[in-house]
Amino acid sequence: MKTVFAAAYDTEAAGRCVKACERIVAVHREMDVPASFFIVSNLLEGAERRPYQELLGDARFEIASHSATHPLLRDHPSLEIKGVPWAQVVNEVQRSKAAIEDCFGKPCVGFRTPCGFADGLGDGPLVELIARSGYTYSSSVGWGPKYSLPVPVQGAYNYERLGFPDLWEFPLHGWHENVLKGHNATPGRFLLWPPVYPDHVVTGYVQTPEEEFAVHRYFIDKALELEMEYSTLIWHPWSLGKFDPEMRMLKLVFEYVRARGCGFTTFAELRARRPSVKAEPALTGARA
Ligand SMILES: [Zn+2]
Repeated sequence: MKTVFAAAYDTEAAGRCVKACERIVAVHREMDVPASFFIVSNLLEGAERRPYQELLGDARFEIASHSATHPLLRDHPSLEIKGVPWAQVVNEVQRSKAAIEDCFGKPCVGFRTPCGFADGLGDGPLVELIARSGYTYSSSVGWGPKYSLPVPVQGAYNYERLGFPDLWEFPLHGWHENVLKGHNATPGRFLLWPPVYPDHVVTGYVQTPEEEFAVHRYFIDKALELEMEYSTLIWHPWSLGKFDPEMRMLKLVFEYVRARGCGFTTFAELRARRPSVKAEPALTGARA
C-alpha cells in the first residue's frame, strides 16, 4: 500500500487562525489537496462562525474537534499543567462535536486532544468518553518517548485493549511546527537522549519556509521508508501564518508528496477504511 499524506491543522487561536486559513484554503484549492481541520469549537460561536463556514465548508475538508475551549483534558507531564475537572472534560468533548456538526452540517467523527499526549487518550476514562460520545477516531499521540519531540513515525492502532475496538488512534508525526520556530516553549527541554532518530538533527530555530520544509521532509521520507499507511505533520494556522504568510512551506510539502508518487487523504477517510466491529451504546451520563 502506498503511503498517503494527511494534511491537518490545529485551528485554535481566535483572530489569528481564520486569517491564516484564508491562505491555507487557497493553497489547498489551487493544488486540489484535502485536509482535516481540528477546530476549537468556541471559534464557531462568535463573529468567526460565518468566515469559517465559508472557508472550511469545502467538501474536500474534514472538520474534526480540537475541544470547545482548548484546556488540558488530563494532567500533562511535559507542560506541567493539571487537567481540568472531569465535568469540564465531558463538556469539552460533547459540546464541541455538537457545535461543529451544527456549523458544518456533517458528522464530526474525530477528536484531537489539546496539546496531545505521549500515549494518546491514555488508559483512563477519556477513552470511553470519546468512544461513547460518537467519535470513531482520536489523533492525540503528540509526543515521543518521555514527552520528547519529535513524535516518532508510527501507525494507527485501536483501543481494543480497553474494550473499544472501534475507536482508532492516528498518531501525529514529527515536530510541532510552532516549537521549531520558537513560537511557544523552548525546544531544548523536549529533546530525548539518545534520540529515536540519531541522523535527524535540528540545530536551531528554522529561519525560512525552505528550512521548515527540510525538517518536515525527513518525516515524510521516514513514513515512506517504513511503508506506513499515512504520513502527517503537526501544523497550526496561527503559527504558520506568523512565520510564512504566503504558505510557501505548504506548497513545497504538497509538491514533494506528489513528486514521491503519494496521494492525499483525510483522517476521516483513513478511519472509514476500517470496518466497525460493534456499535457503542450512547453515553447516558458523565462518569466519575
Ligand atoms: Zn492545540
